[in-house]
Amino acid sequence: MIVELISVGTEILLGNIVNTNAAYLSEKCAVLGLSQFHQSAVGDNPKRLEDAIILALSRADILILSGGLGPTKDDLTKETAAKVMNKNLVQDIHTKERIQEYLQKVIPNHMVTENNWKQAMVPEGAIIIDNLNGTAPGIIMEDNGKRIILLPGPPNELIPMFQEDIVPYLNKLQPELIYSKMVKICGLGESYVETQIMDLIEEQTNPTVAPYAKTGEVHLRITAKARNEEDAMKLVAPVVTELKKRFQDAVFTTEERVTLEEAVVELLKERELTVTTVESCTGGLLAGKIINVAGVSDCYKEGYITYSNEAKKRLVNVSESTLAVAGAVSEECAKEMAIGGAQSANADVCIAITGIAGPDGGTQEKPVGLVYEACYYKGNVEVNKFLFKGNRDKIREQAVVKALTLLRK
Ligand code: ATP
Ligand code: MG
Repeated sequence: MIVELISVGTEILLGNIVNTNAAYLSEKCAVLGLSQFHQSAVGDNPKRLEDAIILALSRADILILSGGLGPTKDDLTKETAAKVMNKNLVQDIHTKERIQEYLQKVIPNHMVTENNWKQAMVPEGAIIIDNLNGTAPGIIMEDNGKRIILLPGPPNELIPMFQEDIVPYLNKLQPELIYSKMVKICGLGESYVETQIMDLIEEQTNPTVAPYAKTGEVHLRITAKARNEEDAMKLVAPVVTELKKRFQDAVFTTEERVTLEEAVVELLKERELTVTTVESCTGGLLAGKIINVAGVSDCYKEGYITYSNEAKKRLVNVSESTLAVAGAVSEECAKEMAIGGAQSANADVCIAITGIAGPDGGTQEKPVGLVYEACYYKGNVEVNKFLFKGNRDKIREQAVVKALTLLRK
């Protein structure tokens, strides 16, 4: 089945908002096994929107429109789509009651205005989807094998509606169901990973294996099509096992929703280890990532941001001579930061990061992107030297992912 997206809103054309809805919907549709060959953005103009809908319907089975379902005059998506589908708008009592209830809950004493009722008008015969986070309902129109799905623009309304109601609807349309699993890898480069699985990528059609690179991570999505979930899982499972065999410890999870920091915290908890962090150039980014994980308090108690030399000395006991001779960005300094951090926080494991994030401060000997990361564990310290590329943000982000990767060892 072919799907096409139209994002409605003049703000998108002016660059005032980033079209995150299109990115979200495209990714989800791909996972559902729907093919997409075109997508467009159209301003709040009924004639141009009508033309865009007619064109999209001529080449797709399913058309998804986002935005322009609001109560104001410039919101015309529903009216235009209904016109193309030859449907009259009729009042939907259930939606009217729900809008009233929603407005009273969110804005007590709110006077419902006439234009609020515009949102209770729906195309005749349409499937109506309650919006739990706003007033505009989602709408599905079906006609002659073509389908138009209308979704509200605000992402906090669109995403839950798509996940809860549209995904099951789209799944039912497909004779075959799509099932996928993710194998997430850290510490190996994308091209290396790809060369190791070329045979799987090239030879497999069901399931397929597709790699996606993220900073410091490679995700492999294994997708199978089958008549039911059980058959699909049977197709996917041996490939997951094969990938785990090929990449061993570099695989940190096979769960789509699990992040690297969650996998790290899980591992530390399993081993009943406490951890602390000493950060110079990453300035707390690593600690922030770790603390993002719910329930981390069992293994993370405190950490240090030691940006200046003085802080390195005072908080984690780096020696004056190391700073004077080797400098703050050096193997020796990273090592002392890791040992001092573990002592100060009385932690089993300590990871220390010191480097040059740029854009200034680089020399020929110590260029921008040079980062040392030391990991203390049971009296031993291992220091790793990296030379990251990119701007300040990118260098700091890579340093954090590498630190999490080291923590898994
Ligand atoms: P409302 O009832 O809020 O008017 P609507 O369905 O009419 O909702 P729009 O008016 O098109 O939607 O957009 C409302 C807001 O939703 C925008 O200001 C923007 O913040 C967000 N939004 C709309 N379209 C997109 C998009 N494609 N990507 C990301 N955000 C979007
Ligand atoms: Mg609007």
